[in-house]
Amino acid sequence: MAGNKTFTMIKPDAVSAGNTGAITKMIEEAGFRIVAIKKTQLSPEKAGEFYAVHKARPFYKDLCSYMSSGAIIPMILEKDNAVEDFRKLIGATDPTKAADGTIRKLFAKSIEANAIHGSDSDENAAIEGSFFFSNTERF
Ligand code: GDP
Repeated sequence: MAGNKTFTMIKPDAVSAGNTGAITKMIEEAGFRIVAIKKTQLSPEKAGEFYAVHKARPFYKDLCSYMSSGAIIPMILEKDNAVEDFRKLIGATDPTKAADGTIRKLFAKSIEANAIHGSDSDENAAIEGSFFFSNTERF
């Protein structure tokens, strides 16, 4: 059965463009409850750890420097069928391919600076959520 939690972070391009409020509003209006939220900045090393699965990809180094270039807003979100529904809300990785009305279509600048992250499985949602937060059960 699909779980009810997912993990997201608003990426540096969207935070620096002042889109945190608009994106958070879309997330809540789509029925997600914010369980945990903060503003922080990743070091290049921490960004590399978060995206370790992409280590062999040609864009890995650029991705790590982009993801550590400014503030991010990580969040744990709750909703039925959270992972799948949230991936639909954010749209395709490449904003030129993202469906109309999705967060990436509206706010992403490029395939790399694509405004927002969304976990791709229940297992990764749990791993990624605990990368940034602890003791969130009671929220
Ligand atoms: P996601 O699950 O939709 O975020 O996509 P992936 O897991 O495949 O990629 C992780 C992140 O790496 C994306 O969200 C982008 O920020 C970045 N990325 C993915 N593909 C490319 C690419 O072809 N070029 C560059 N520069 N960045 C990419």
